[in-house]
Amino acid sequence: MRLFQAVKERITTRQAAERYGITVGRNGMCCCPFHNDRHPSMKIDDRFYCFSCGSTGDVIDFTGLLFRIEPVEAARKLAEDFDINYEYQGEPNNQIKDRKDRESSIITPVKKTEDQIFNEKRTKVARVYLDYRSDLNKQKEKYAK
Ligand SMILES: [Zn+2]
Repeated sequence: MRLFQAVKERITTRQAAERYGITVGRNGMCCCPFHNDRHPSMKIDDRFYCFSCGSTGDVIDFTGLLFRIEPVEAARKLAEDFDINYEYQGEPNNQIKDRKDRESSIITPVKKTEDQIFNEKRTKVARVYLDYRSDLNKQKEKYAK
């Protein structure tokens, strides 16, 4: 899942925790927000682990637990809060389409654009029409005599 991937690659659990108001000590320990923690018992870095209640996971699990939302909502929230661009799922995706177009144009650099094809056709049609008309004029001249 691209959204999940983007979020996990860009945000550590520690960054998310700090952003959402949790104080993390220099040693990477904080008070666990998932149980009534008086002394920091959660180790938080890329992932999190609470030595007291055993809760663990990655940045998306953490945010989901913290706000009591589904993982996909947590991932979206993180992406928004940290300004991460991600590819929407199940929607027409321009980024993917653009990339595919670019790739195919690299593989086949001579591929004509639709405009080029259209212009060529138009030129051809115009030429045929002009030929036809000049034929007609010749005929006219012929019969005029
Ligand atoms: Zn805990």
